[in-house]
Amino acid sequence: MRRLRNVKIVATLGPASNDYDMIRALSEAGADVFRLNMSHGDHEEIRARHAIIRKVEEDIGRPIAILADLQGPKLRVGAFAEEAHDLDVGDKFRLDLNEELGSKDRVCLPHPEIFQALKPGSNLLVNDGKIKLQVENCGEDFADCVVTVGGTISNRKGVNVPDVLLPLAALSDKDRKDLEFTCELGVDWVALSFVQRPSDMNEARELVNGRAAVLAKIEKPAAVDDFESILAVSDGIMVARGDLGVELPVHAVPPIQKRLIRKCREAAKPVIVATQMLESMIESPMPTRAEVSDVATAIYEGADAIMLSAESAAGDFPIDAVSTMNNVAIEVEADPTYRSILDASRAGRKETVADAIVSAAREIAETTEVQAAVCYSQSGTTAALLARERPHVPIVAMTSQKKTVRKMTLYWGLHCVETDSVDRFKDAVVYAVRVARSSGFAEADDKIVVTAGVPFNQPGSTNILRVAPCDERLIFHSEPE
Ligand code: PGA
Ligand code: MN
Repeated sequence: MRRLRNVKIVATLGPASNDYDMIRALSEAGADVFRLNMSHGDHEEIRARHAIIRKVEEDIGRPIAILADLQGPKLRVGAFAEEAHDLDVGDKFRLDLNEELGSKDRVCLPHPEIFQALKPGSNLLVNDGKIKLQVENCGEDFADCVVTVGGTISNRKGVNVPDVLLPLAALSDKDRKDLEFTCELGVDWVALSFVQRPSDMNEARELVNGRAAVLAKIEKPAAVDDFESILAVSDGIMVARGDLGVELPVHAVPPIQKRLIRKCREAAKPVIVATQMLESMIESPMPTRAEVSDVATAIYEGADAIMLSAESAAGDFPIDAVSTMNNVAIEVEADPTYRSILDASRAGRKETVADAIVSAAREIAETTEVQAAVCYSQSGTTAALLARERPHVPIVAMTSQKKTVRKMTLYWGLHCVETDSVDRFKDAVVYAVRVARSSGFAEADDKIVVTAGVPFNQPGSTNILRVAPCDERLIFHSEPE
């Protein structure tokens, strides 16, 4: 049941991973969180996928987080009559508001505001910047372009307009509908694309209204500049390198990734590194050495999660892609250098009783023979603080809240278990011992460190730490009420 690594794997679902057998296989290969990309698929498809994930979760007996990724004010071309077209340098290509299916000569770009902002000479980047179009002539409902960098164009590929300031709202009408739909379905995380300012997150939070945790995708220069205020109003972050590397020069991305990961850890909020991690595995069972190194780098940096996009959604080798990430993670996390990097980058700042207790739990684990750190956490706050410590023993996060148990599967190192609710610390210890033993973390003659907050059911009230024997008879004899 237990994973043999701490970093989590997010797998995007799509046409290549639509049915029960595949989703279950991805989960067994190591996917901890499934991402539903709202840019693709209609509500009925999303509803079906969501139901399959919940069925897999029930059958496997391990909580799974579902992340609904809202398209955001992302510009995308419409659909084509044929699957794809190769555009070569010098070809003419028209973008317009005509809703008919696209061809080799034209496609719909269903964003009137963009045509108003374009000028002859403006550049449009399509498909993560792989294709470059330059506007030659344009009007209110069209832009005639010439291809300056060629590539393959297909349904709903993203479009960036780096040289033009676009007046875009945080959430489109489609986002609002998708947000309501996915919250009603019961997803655990909602991700907001193209966040530019903290107020974008606040707007989304209000609509989500506590039904899910809210994650900010950092893919605009403005969001990088104002990162700390955005982080303060987000439950988690995605370093969305695809659009970030189009909106900014690609070489600006790695330092931003490092900085964002550190800030998230300081704030005890989970951070996902995303996009093109194993891009070549869309078509090949074997990744490039550079991709393996990129996955390893994100893990060494201490990211909570690494993500697959098209590799698992539309590629030929979704399971191999998950196994590759899993294997890289196991290898990196066994490297003593990984441990020393995580220890060196731990923030020394302790402000609250909870900070001090989780830090003490980690120190006890480092100095003694305890086999696991177990916390009982209703809101997930204590579990997040414990994950931030990056202890070298496994962390078991127990809660009686289904919402919390699923949400926490995104965090570094948390092995999440749903238990009955607890109202005495003694019960928390008994559950902790049972869970640690049944999940394979400890045996009868081992010890674990347990933290919880009394009174229970108050977020951030962590105030007890106990080193407990894993023999239940000993607990009953030695445990204070
Ligand atoms: P997307 O977001 O796949 O929805 O574009 C991720 C990214 O931009 O990296
Ligand atoms: Mn993006």
